[in-house]
Amino acid sequence: MTLIVFKQIVLNVSIFKEFKDTGPKYKTRIRSRVANLKDVKNPALRENVLTGLIPVDRIACMTAEEMASDELKQMRAKLTKEAINDHQMSYQGGTRTTLFKCGRCGKRDCTYNQVQTRSADEPMTTFVVCNLCGNRWKFC
Ligand SMILES: [Zn+2]
Repeated sequence: MTLIVFKQIVLNVSIFKEFKDTGPKYKTRIRSRVANLKDVKNPALRENVLTGLIPVDRIACMTAEEMASDELKQMRAKLTKEAINDHQMSYQGGTRTTLFKCGRCGKRDCTYNQVQTRSADEPMTTFVVCNLCGNRWKFC
């Protein structure tokens, strides 16, 4: 038996102790632990568990956020932010234009949206996204 398998059994037992059964909650918890321990982008967590730096019973009740490394946390925050931006863009549609020049790549292939961000009598805010490099900016 490898150390990681042993640790996993200890983990399963301590999660079982918490839920007192092997129902859906138990299974979900196990699955999220295993996924985090196998995450190649988070080798620190697996190492810390294997070396005993993080006790297995601590892992059993950690949140997904706690298990994630700082790098992973930043990436997650960035992805969430981008997903929201993309969602807003696609939600509002957009017009493809050569009117604007991208400040990053210097090309003129952008999609823009005009949005009323404040009251109706104020000028609209124009959101521009570069179709080539993804650079985003806005102006009024
Ligand atoms: Zn660009």
